[in-house]
Amino acid sequence: MNIETIAIHAGQEIDPTTGSVIPPIYLSTTFERAEDGSFPHGNLYIRNGNPNRTMLERCLTALEGGADCAAFSSGLAATMSIFQALQPGDHVIAPDDAYHGVSRLLREIMAPWGLNYTVVDMTDVAAVQAAVQPQTRLVWIETPSNPQLKVADIAAIAAVAHEAAALCVVDNTWASPIQQRPLELSADLVLHSTTKYLGGHSDLLGGAVVTRELSPIWERVRFLQANGGAVPAPFDCWLLLRGIQTLAYRVRAHAEHALRIAQFLACHPRIERVHYPGLETHPGHAVAVRQMRGFGGMLSIEVRGGEAAAMALAARLQIFTRATSLGGIESLIEHRASVEGPESKTPPGLLRVSVGLEHPDDLIADLKQALGD
Ligand SMILES: *Cc1c(COP(=O)(O)O)cnc(C)c1O
Repeated sequence: MNIETIAIHAGQEIDPTTGSVIPPIYLSTTFERAEDGSFPHGNLYIRNGNPNRTMLERCLTALEGGADCAAFSSGLAATMSIFQALQPGDHVIAPDDAYHGVSRLLREIMAPWGLNYTVVDMTDVAAVQAAVQPQTRLVWIETPSNPQLKVADIAAIAAVAHEAAALCVVDNTWASPIQQRPLELSADLVLHSTTKYLGGHSDLLGGAVVTRELSPIWERVRFLQANGGAVPAPFDCWLLLRGIQTLAYRVRAHAEHALRIAQFLACHPRIERVHYPGLETHPGHAVAVRQMRGFGGMLSIEVRGGEAAAMALAARLQIFTRATSLGGIESLIEHRASVEGPESKTPPGLLRVSVGLEHPDDLIADLKQALGD
């Protein structure tokens, strides 16, 4: 079945009691036992499971081509559950440009908990190989990366991880399952901040982990979901399923608009550099062509004149909103270094753009006026 059809139907059944085509939102915190003490519908208590969450997890499992999925209250809650499924003393290899929340989680929460980690440039497979230690249990990939859109070779890094008997996890938030399916490239787990493209409308917070196979580490992630308790509310699961139905069409349009904007900015004299894997000049282009179907809706630009010029450009834009986050219908632009704080290695003139679904001609006209053309 094609992914457009999966997005609309997977996990969603006509409500058997009312015939409702669109699922109701189940707010009940608790579910009745049968006379023999069993739970005939599989639901016990809202933290352990809820019908809207189950529908969402089935849909995400199908979209990524996995064996199971666990939904969380945020992308970082999902990330933390993966790290907590390891043991203190285990070693993790992570990108030197991971989403700053993931880096902070490793540095300030998981390291004190006892997890050891090394950060490497994930575009360099030999560097990943060189970072392997006897206690390495997990290699974390984020591709395309945030905010410089570096592309890591998922299949090659998964091979390095597996040779070391470690797991390969891919943060697939930016590409979405429409444009990248890491489990097909031998990754073991996929992480999503569902807050972004999966939700797609900038109105919910959520996360998810999808597994390629049922395994002890997967059982631990599930255990942490129910017993750590960072689970999504039924309404957020319902909103996510609603957003996912148009995911394929949204992501394709986001990517088409992003390519047009990247091409326009790439030859503009006031822009020093454009980071977008769809440009043939991008260092990750060849790997992206091999492992992605399309290049996503995110790009970043380095404005000539550094931070002051970047801030001034963002201030002149009328349609793009100056705000963090990504993956919604509206275009957003953000000065990344000031969000990432003092540890940031992001160039001071860099603006990150989440290209929205407005007409691309309008977006380009807005950029032109802001650039003083
Ligand atoms: C936003 C984001 C996260 C964190 O997700 P939250 O839902 O904000 O907790 C993780 N990884 C990437 C790539 C993100 O963009």
